[in-house]
Amino acid sequence: MGPRLQAVLGDITAELVDAIVNAANSRLAGGGGVDGAIHRAAGTAELHAACAELGRCPPGEAKATPGFRLRARWIIHTVGPVWSGGNRDEAAVLASCYRRSLAVADELGARSVAFPAISTGVYGYPPDQAAEVAVGTVGRADTEVQLVRLVAFDQATFDRYRDLGADPA
Ligand code: ADP
Repeated sequence: MGPRLQAVLGDITAELVDAIVNAANSRLAGGGGVDGAIHRAAGTAELHAACAELGRCPPGEAKATPGFRLRARWIIHTVGPVWSGGNRDEAAVLASCYRRSLAVADELGARSVAFPAISTGVYGYPPDQAAEVAVGTVGRADTEVQLVRLVAFDQATFDRYRDLGADPA
C-alpha cells in the first residue's frame, strides 16, 4: 500500500514533516522559486555549503542535506525535467523524482515527506499533467513513508491534487 496522500495549499518551508523536497537545479546551486524560498528559510550559507559538498545531481535523481533552520529535519533535493514538449521522457524523469525522493526518505528513516509541484515553475511542465504524475507515482510507491503532503502554491494545483484523490488538509 502506498503512503497516505494529502493536498496542502501554502508555503512548503513551513511544513512540519520529517523531510521536505526541494525542486533544485542540477548544480544544486540554489536559485529562484521554491529553491530560493527553501534556501532563505533554512539558512542560505549553511545550505549552500551542504549542497556544494553533494556535487551535481542529474534530472530524476535526489540527494539529501540537513534542514538546518527549517522545522523539517532534512531537505531532499531533486532535479525535475525541463519541459520541452513532452517527447523527451519528461514524464518518466518527473516520476523518477518522486520515486527517488521517497527512496532517499527511506534511507533517512523519514516517515513524512512534503513535495512541491516539481518542474511546474521555471521548468515549464504543464501543471495538470505534473499533478497526475505526482499523485500516480506517490500512490504506487513502494516506501516506508507513511504520509506524503503535496504542497500546492496556487489554488488550481491544490484543486487538481484533490480531484485526483489526495485528501484536502
Ligand atoms: P522548477 O524549476 O522545478 O519548475 P520552481 O521553483 O520554479 O521549480 O517551481 C516549482 C513549483 O513550486 C511552482 O508550482 C511554484 O509555484 C512552487 N513554489 C514556489 N515557491 C513555493 C513555496 N515557497 N512553497 C511551495 N511551492 C512553491
